Amino acid sequence: MSNEIFTIRARRCKRCGRLLTSAEAVEKGYGCQCAAKAQAEEDEKKPIPGQMTIEDLFKNMEE
Ligand SMILES: [Zn+2]
Repeated sequence: MSNEIFTIRARRCKRCGRLLTSAEAVEKGYGCQCAAKAQAEEDEKKPIPGQMTIEDLFKNMEE
């Protein structure tokens, strides 16, 4: 079956590559532990309110 590889990939954790066993984990793309870690990393990437991002700085310079 040609879509077998896709199915296997989709059911592996994007972070550690372990097989995902729950429907919720498959939907998220992460195992339960990695989902929490991935979420924490996402939060770290978000700009701190009140601080300019590099993009904002360049925008201000162009104006
Ligand atoms: Zn994982």
